[in-house]
Amino acid sequence: MAIRKIREVGDEVLTKPCKEVPKMTLRTKILINDMLDTMYEAMGVGLAAPQVGILKRIVTIDVGDGPIVLINPVILETDGEQCGEEGCLSLPGKSGLVTRPNYVKVRALNEEMEEVELEGEGLLARAFCHEIDHLEGKMYMELVEGGVHDVEDCEEEE
Ligand code: ZN
Repeated sequence: MAIRKIREVGDEVLTKPCKEVPKMTLRTKILINDMLDTMYEAMGVGLAAPQVGILKRIVTIDVGDGPIVLINPVILETDGEQCGEEGCLSLPGKSGLVTRPNYVKVRALNEEMEEVELEGEGLLARAFCHEIDHLEGKMYMELVEGGVHDVEDCEEEE
């Protein structure tokens, strides 16, 4: 168990495409466990490997229903639309309005390297899209309507 340093915007590791994971190794198992620890410590709902400086196609997600680990994930299907506030652990204290599909189906490998298909709606669909974008070196700011703002500004309005 270890907390890794979360890379922030400006670090070029966040702009690079990630490599497929060909097989499970001890090193990759440790990475996944560290990613989960780091995500929970930072109170995030998702983390992608490049956010801890590793260019591998691995994401961890927990929207409140328990941990999900996706290795080499691909989006199979999307449907509908949702517009909501989105933030990122690599841009702390900021958020912005992003339109995403409301339903997303993904195929990936789990920690046993077994193929799984998962469906998500709402926040989970948003997390799938956000984290898989990271694996392509893309961040949500490119998609924000009207620019990112401080999270505090948003909370004051509520
Ligand atoms: Zn992010």
